[in-house]
Amino acid sequence: MSDHIEKRTKKQDRGLVMVLTGNGKGKTTSALGQALRALGHGFKVYMVQFMKGRKYGEVLAAEKHLPGLTVEQFGLDSFVMRVNPAPVDIELAQKGLERAQEIVVSNAYDMVILDEINVAIDFKLISLASVLELIKNKPMELTLILTGRYAPPEIVEIADMVSEIKEIKHHYASGIKDRAGIEF
Ligand code: ATP
Ligand code: MG
Repeated sequence: MSDHIEKRTKKQDRGLVMVLTGNGKGKTTSALGQALRALGHGFKVYMVQFMKGRKYGEVLAAEKHLPGLTVEQFGLDSFVMRVNPAPVDIELAQKGLERAQEIVVSNAYDMVILDEINVAIDFKLISLASVLELIKNKPMELTLILTGRYAPPEIVEIADMVSEIKEIKHHYASGIKDRAGIEF
């Protein structure tokens, strides 16, 4: 590794707040790509998945192949209703937030990914204020990645990086169903 790269990946660098939002496909998988890149440098990564309970490829890959990556899910394997979400969905999202708070303040990880947290806020499963608090209290070196459609402007405002993935086309529109390794 060159000195240049060594310098840029030193642990004492300030971690970033990164947001992946928009309607196009590729937010969660982009965060996982960032995780893969961090893992290559020996960084420890924790991903909290809100509103998800399905055994996604990333859950299986982390268990089988990626000791530096932990993926923990706080949701059911079913859709959450935007209006009138079930009490269990609220309870699970709250637990996810509590876990995220513990993990962030533990300072045991270099990167924490809060997957679909923007949607959990939008659906009012968790409060925006609590997430803003979590971001403000993060350890200096920690990189925090927040994914999901509908990123609130308050989070966009305090983030270092925000990318909005725009849908140009999606294969669902031509009748192609969700697939292992592509959607889950
Ligand atoms: P991925 O997990 O594949 O990176 P994502 O995180 O950007 O996708 P989400 O908004 O979390 O997408 O939606 C999850 C699922 O919905 C994905 O499996 C994806 O294929 C599907 N999806 C995402 N964008 C679109 C779209 N524009 N039209 C239809 N389905 C979509
Ligand atoms: Mg996603």
